[in-house]
Amino acid sequence: MDTSALATAQAQLAAAVEILGYDAGVHEMLATPRREMRVAVPLRRDDGSFELLHGYRVQHNISRGPGKGGLRYSAAVDMDEVRALAMWMTWKCALVDVPYGGAKGGVTIDPLTHSLGELERTTRRFTSEIMPMIGPERDIMAPDVGTDERTMGWIMDTFSVNAGYTIPAVTTGKPLAIGGSLGRATATSRGVVDVADAALTDAGVALSEVKVAIQGFGKVGSHAAAMLHSMGASVTAISDQFGAVVNPDGLDIPALMAHTAATGKVVGFDGGDPVDHAAVLTADVDVLIPAAVAGAIGAEVASQVKARWVVEGANGPTTVEGDRVLADRGVQVVPDVLANAGGVVVSYFEWVQANQAYWWTEAEITERLGQRMRTAYDAVAARSRSEGLSMRDAATVIGVGRVAQAHRIRGLYP
Ligand code: NAD
Repeated sequence: MDTSALATAQAQLAAAVEILGYDAGVHEMLATPRREMRVAVPLRRDDGSFELLHGYRVQHNISRGPGKGGLRYSAAVDMDEVRALAMWMTWKCALVDVPYGGAKGGVTIDPLTHSLGELERTTRRFTSEIMPMIGPERDIMAPDVGTDERTMGWIMDTFSVNAGYTIPAVTTGKPLAIGGSLGRATATSRGVVDVADAALTDAGVALSEVKVAIQGFGKVGSHAAAMLHSMGASVTAISDQFGAVVNPDGLDIPALMAHTAATGKVVGFDGGDPVDHAAVLTADVDVLIPAAVAGAIGAEVASQVKARWVVEGANGPTTVEGDRVLADRGVQVVPDVLANAGGVVVSYFEWVQANQAYWWTEAEITERLGQRMRTAYDAVAARSRSEGLSMRDAATVIGVGRVAQAHRIRGLYP
């Protein structure tokens, strides 16, 4: 069975289309990206040599508003992965009811083996190449794996300099000093924690009673760990791409964050024992938060997961087979399009603030984010209960249904 991100996204859509009873034509329209751009990104390296990178931007759907989605820097990124991520953005934006379609971008660069100057030149050239496709009313980028607020600042600057005036709303997840939003850096993690809390509460379990394992200690995983730790949960296992640490009594997350800030990895942390990073997915915990890569939980891993809840911080961490095995074993999966939607919600707030040139307080942002996550969670839980669907199917059905409704109401031109 094809376990790629695109095959997983297509299978999830097919399941939703079947539940909704749409015909083959509507299915194909929903499955097919509206626009795709593939660009060559030549990079002059610091030593004077040249490297040819490949860049992609996909607008999967733009019926509900401009394309919205992250930009990924990874040596492994390709057009199909970007297509899958763009499709998930479409359902996610519809599910949390922000007025966007879904988009995603990627560049085939390993940020760990390139200097800051090389990353800046790559970002500016990529931005310049995809310029006709992006803009505050067309397609708005945000950070994803391998990119950060600095990357968003370079994109905003390149776009603005070419236009001749400052256009902050072309990216979200920017530094505060140039129009970023309070609360954006931690928004995805906050949303993950909000929905984890909601799922536990539905089962009569308190967050402060649970043990948690987290795969990935980047932008999503590290802040989720810190929030859970501060709310009294015991985070006992954490991995990154280099290794993992466990401590059955709970890891000291602030100390681990200081360690990774200094060394770039969780390995070597003296407040826990080193283990193979695969062991984190099958750790003896209540809640597992995959917050790293797609396809991490296949059938094999799923058969050994000990957690009762899998809350998907990452995009597409569970394959179709993995999903089936988890469901058979009674593990509840809170799906990515719901669980990690906090990032795009606060990205939307950042875009609204930039368009209005009026800034909200952090308390306003946190409260409005909490409301939107709660509304989306309740809608998914209600649909799941009333129709006997998994939370994944319920979330996808709601998102797909709203996009199809927009298509219906707008009609087909010409
Ligand atoms: P990041 O680059 O900041 O961090 C990724 C982390 O995963 C790093 O700690 C890295 O070492 C680790 N990692 C990579 N391969 C691993 C492996 N095989 N095993 C264990 N750890 C591994 O990226 P991020 O922004 O935190 O994104 C993580 C996931 O969350 C991605 O799937 C991304 O698409 C998704 N996501 C991110 C956001 C956001 O706002 N940043 C929003 C929604 C979804």
